[in-house]
Amino acid sequence: MKNMTVKHTLNDELMMGYAAGILPEAFNLVVATHLSLCDESRAGVESYEAVGGAVLESTAAAKMSAGALASCLERIKTDRQVVARAEPSKGVFPNPLQVYVGGDLDSVRWRSLGNGTKQAILPTAKGATARLLFIPAGCAVPDHGHRGTELTLVLQGAFADEVDRFGRGDIEIADEDLNHQPVAEMGEDCICLAATDAPLRFNSLLPRLMQPLFRI
Ligand code: ZN
Repeated sequence: MKNMTVKHTLNDELMMGYAAGILPEAFNLVVATHLSLCDESRAGVESYEAVGGAVLESTAAAKMSAGALASCLERIKTDRQVVARAEPSKGVFPNPLQVYVGGDLDSVRWRSLGNGTKQAILPTAKGATARLLFIPAGCAVPDHGHRGTELTLVLQGAFADEVDRFGRGDIEIADEDLNHQPVAEMGEDCICLAATDAPLRFNSLLPRLMQPLFRI
């Protein structure tokens, strides 16, 4: 499988955050998986990494507060940096994601969310949550808003919402301003990797009641 043209790529904030290694692990995982599928974003991150290296070399050591080093070391301990791989991997999941799942699609331990929709939460450090989502072809995710940032990367099939259509490799970046209802395209079940740093805001009662149960 060669890298196809991805339409929806990373923004500068995420590219910088990833290059600097300051994103929560769940976001690192989504970004690294996207980078494995998107040459454009990978080139962007590489240029930020080059800038970061140059800045570090030319700047004298900055004064740090007493707690800064300790909290920095704590972050390094808990938030794993996930490395993107440019080389294509066999199967649906690019390499960094296969490491987390312990294999490809057939290794996922899905849990039902009802109506054929399924999820699998992946083990990452606290601060943000990463999950795989399975949305049957033609089915919708309950409409919702966001309390923080939600990254959704399509791995199989496609979905459409109020913003646009998203296919394999595309990443949707949603924040407090977006209310949407993703609907999987007909023809193929949609599988996404999503990360959130705050619970979603569901607009109808039933998903809201089920929320604590599914940690969504
Ligand atoms: Zn959303």
